[in-house]
Amino acid sequence: MIKKVINPLLIAATAMLLTTSSFAGGDPKAQEHVFDIKPKKVADGVYCMFGAIEMPTADNAGFMSNSCYIKTSDSWVVWDTGATYKFAKAVYTEMQKIADLPVNTIIFSHEHDDHWLGSGFYKEKFGSKLIGTKIVNERYKPGHEPETRMFQILNPIDVEGTKITPMDESYDDGKVFKLGGVTMEYISLGQAHSEDDFMLYLPEKKVILTADVVMNGRITSNRNGLVMGQLKALDLIKSKDWNVCVPGHGFNTSKTAIDESVKYFTQMKDQILAALDNDVEATEINEVVTLPDFKDKGLYDVLNSNNVSRSYGEFEMMD
Ligand SMILES: [Zn+2]
Repeated sequence: MIKKVINPLLIAATAMLLTTSSFAGGDPKAQEHVFDIKPKKVADGVYCMFGAIEMPTADNAGFMSNSCYIKTSDSWVVWDTGATYKFAKAVYTEMQKIADLPVNTIIFSHEHDDHWLGSGFYKEKFGSKLIGTKIVNERYKPGHEPETRMFQILNPIDVEGTKITPMDESYDDGKVFKLGGVTMEYISLGQAHSEDDFMLYLPEKKVILTADVVMNGRITSNRNGLVMGQLKALDLIKSKDWNVCVPGHGFNTSKTAIDESVKYFTQMKDQILAALDNDVEATEINEVVTLPDFKDKGLYDVLNSNNVSRSYGEFEMMD
């Protein structure tokens, strides 16, 4: 049996991060960030924006996650909006040049704010329907924007206009949509990368949009996830027929897009289980399990040891 893992060390670390970054909160005198948006066509009628392989910073203005537009007969359907109103607006401006369509529906992968906090732009402009995990509505209340990670980190001018906008619909078990002639399977992955993850599969296009259960070129943040949930989600992705897989972070969308994630979580599991067999204590786990195959990947120094500590807690609790 796998239980939801709450790691007190990580909660403390997150609280510290929030406290320290609230001193920063970006530079009130900073100039507005100018986004370099180049939509990349990954399949017929599917375009994606690929963010930097970085944590959110004032310099990248939150453009460090991937989002996509899917063309239907009468609308764009957006998969994750990115982190801010201004980012969403900059993306729409570029996408409108490709096809001047409204955005009727937005489907979200999970509750991490770099993926959805830009939604207010579309709500304001089109009254778009927002579909995503109910956790967003439970945890984020309109008017509490300053408590979000983006408001803590980005420059004030770059979060201007950004509003917490509640989800209109949630489907715990997923749902199959046919929107403007395009089939979209919105698939629940349970607790994998976050506490409630979803992916979007476009069977006619053989495209799978996995968001953060797949990352490449960088280390993931497993702060709310589970190794076993990740491995299960990755197996489900493998079982689908796709030619293009768009990760939540990273640039590789080919047949090898998921390989790094599979390898990372498989090694994590094997090495932590071996350490537990050898009675390695929580306080020593970061000396024993370092996942050296990944040390040259982006954000290894920032995220890997926290991932290992949290995963130790997960396997320690398993029987
Ligand atoms: Zn995430």
